[in-house]
Amino acid sequence: MHYQPQRDLLQNHIILVTGASDGIGREAAITYARHGASVILLGRNEDKLRAVAQQFDTEGLLPATWFTLDLLTCTPEECQQLAQKIAIHSPRLDGVLHNAGLLGDVAPMAEQRPDVWQQVMQVNVNATFMLTQALLPLLLKSDAGSLVFTSSSVGREGRANWGAYAASKFATEGMMQVLAEEYQGRLRVNCINPGGTRTGMRASAFPTEDPLKLKTPADIMPVYLWLMGDDSRRKTGMTFDAQPGRKPGIAQ
Ligand code: NDP
Repeated sequence: MHYQPQRDLLQNHIILVTGASDGIGREAAITYARHGASVILLGRNEDKLRAVAQQFDTEGLLPATWFTLDLLTCTPEECQQLAQKIAIHSPRLDGVLHNAGLLGDVAPMAEQRPDVWQQVMQVNVNATFMLTQALLPLLLKSDAGSLVFTSSSVGREGRANWGAYAASKFATEGMMQVLAEEYQGRLRVNCINPGGTRTGMRASAFPTEDPLKLKTPADIMPVYLWLMGDDSRRKTGMTFDAQPGRKPGIAQ
């Protein structure tokens, strides 16, 4: 995507990023702050979140606030408590990027382990739903709220061996479409499909792939910025490819 964001695109925006401790989420959080946003980091690993917040300080960005929440075990009550804690310091949320995700087993359906299947559904779908429910009141306080989910090419077209992960990303697309219609005119709701990107998750999905042939998280940030800023204000109910034209599958 060719998009040249204004340096202050996200000034006065308060944005929460899940899975902010690593990979694409970490990069998105820092990128939002570099464009003026006040960022709330969510993750399960305190040390990793602290390190990301430290990076904000090193770069002289607005200080990051961070909270831990394990999406594998979280309950609706914990999500509500988190929203209450956020509301103490943040009057609203202008953006939420649901980015945290779990890959699970890359294996034929017949070999997908039921417990791992449930974990993938819990992190990618159920926790994302519970967190969305808890954060909606804060998002609706913004006059230009943007709710962004993270999809995948296997969330639009099933592919052998992608099992629970593909099913969870289809569910993510569905959740996005339902919410977009329910909040038409009050909140925009969209998905990003990052496309193959150089992260730990990608390396575990394609262990033989040369990571240097992949875009980095920094390379795919234009669409992440565009969807959080005012330039995308009229867009809702859509899925955007961070790497338009890229063929799914192993990088050649
Ligand atoms: P990473 O594995 O690098 O990062 C995943 C993030 O999710 C980490 O911050 C991780 O936390 C967090 N997370 C995982 N499980 C939990 C949990 N139980 N509770 C809280 N946080 C959790 O993955 P990517 O950056 O590659 O992926 C980001 C998103 O992009 C995912 O939704 C993925 O499905 C999607 N995607 C990625 C593609 C790619 O090629 N990279 C392609 C298509 C889609 P921790 O640091 O503690 O592990």
